[in-house]
Amino acid sequence: MSEYEAVIGLEVHAQLKTRTKIFCGCSTEFGRPANSQTCPVCLGHPGALPVLNRRAVELGVRGALALGAEIRERSIFARKNYFYPDLPKGYQISQYEEPLAEGGGVPIECGGEATTIRLTRLHLEEDAGKSIHDGMPDSERASYVDLNRSGTPLAEIVSEPEIHSPRQAYLYLQRLRSILRYADVCDGNMEQGSFRCDANVSVRPIGEAKLGTRTEVKNLNSFRNVQRALEFELKRQIEILRSGGQVEQQTILWDASAGETRPMRGKEEAHDYRYFPEPDLPPVVCGEAFVEEIRRSLPELPAARKARLVAEYGVGADEAHQLTLEAPLADYYEAVVRAGAGGAAVANYVLNDLQRAQNEARRADDEIPLPAEHLAELIRLVDDGTISSSAARQEVFPEMYASGGSPAAIVKQKGLEQVSDESTLQVAVEAVVAENPDELAKYRGGKQGLIGFFVGKVMQKTGGKANPKEVNRLLRTHLDPPDSGDPT
Ligand code: ADP
Ligand code: MG
Ligand code: ZN
Repeated sequence: MSEYEAVIGLEVHAQLKTRTKIFCGCSTEFGRPANSQTCPVCLGHPGALPVLNRRAVELGVRGALALGAEIRERSIFARKNYFYPDLPKGYQISQYEEPLAEGGGVPIECGGEATTIRLTRLHLEEDAGKSIHDGMPDSERASYVDLNRSGTPLAEIVSEPEIHSPRQAYLYLQRLRSILRYADVCDGNMEQGSFRCDANVSVRPIGEAKLGTRTEVKNLNSFRNVQRALEFELKRQIEILRSGGQVEQQTILWDASAGETRPMRGKEEAHDYRYFPEPDLPPVVCGEAFVEEIRRSLPELPAARKARLVAEYGVGADEAHQLTLEAPLADYYEAVVRAGAGGAAVANYVLNDLQRAQNEARRADDEIPLPAEHLAELIRLVDDGTISSSAARQEVFPEMYASGGSPAAIVKQKGLEQVSDESTLQVAVEAVVAENPDELAKYRGGKQGLIGFFVGKVMQKTGGKANPKEVNRLLRTHLDPPDSGDPT
């Protein structure tokens, strides 16, 4: 890679969370029988007229504001003409020259360096239908079309070509999805197609200002596939340039099972689409009052929340980033802290033990079965020395996550209380010191590292239940010679 720079611009199609489609009253519900949610408008019957869904505009504006974009007072729908079986009208209604919003950005942190990937624009458009090539009895010779999705409202969010690695692309998508989900604009479900991404990719010699020829990679249906496809495509382009060839401007398809990209068609230019203003829809006008009302209704967004977690609870920036990607997880984190546990310890349990358990149980962040009070209580039991941290992690946490029982009850039932009582520990410490005169002499001769040996012996004697902090303290008073305070 060394003599070439990767240049990536991403186009994301985010489905807006409306109940009905953008230009008709058909439902947008996912997973219904094919073609059951259609009408003359979204089937493209001649003469059927589109009527703009106000909610789609509100959500588009909301998403744009959450991304720091500028809302244009006037935006225009256009017809983008092309033929495809899933597009019965022969054109897609999309905003082109005058989009809903311009500018804005997505902040990311990559390798400890914070940057903002700027956005070119956010515009509204309708989705196409879906061709079904497999799984039907006569799929050998026929394809089918499901038009339930035809006319579903989308916000297309276009980045500037300033993403420079697959990792940055991943972080950009992760944060963009998070912002749209916080703002309640898009559910971000990649499997159901409500958050889709096309990647424009080129490479150029380092130091070169002019952009290289790009390919546009389609069919990236998971964050992981975006990274893999970009890695593959960058390598392919660099190999072409190294061997003296030229990259062809193409639309290519990512084949996840083969792990490679395949050319699909020559990439079209804008003029191929014969864009012209949609005569059946008036301009969209977003007045200041309309925009400001939406701005006021926005919740705290990930960047602000992240900064607040760092300032209020003393968690590190990386942890705060992880905690704030999903609002329900951040809510849970704050609930545990409010229930009376230290911010750093809670972050640790939430990001490690809890997330591991959630993944294993295949639960989403809004279905955490563990009451916040229980996790707070567990952390307090460690803090006050009632149980060891390893007992908390290995024994109590999994049990309370699975059973819903309270940590105190589990500690009691499993007999995990540590022994911190001084007179009990004193007996064990004295016995261990008396039983190991050789080690005692070496320790006093300067081998301070032997403290670990003594701690281990005391733990053995107490069946692993002694409070190691207390044991350490008591051992020091027994091991250190009385005059050790003054080595002269
Ligand atoms: P279209 O895909 O409809 O042709 P644009 O020309 O507006 O649309 O570009 C779409 C995306 O491609 C944008 O995200 C832009 O940043 C990115 N892009 C444009 N040129 C390049 C390039 N040479 N290399 C990488 N990305 C590019
Ligand atoms: Mg494109
Ligand atoms: Zn319809």
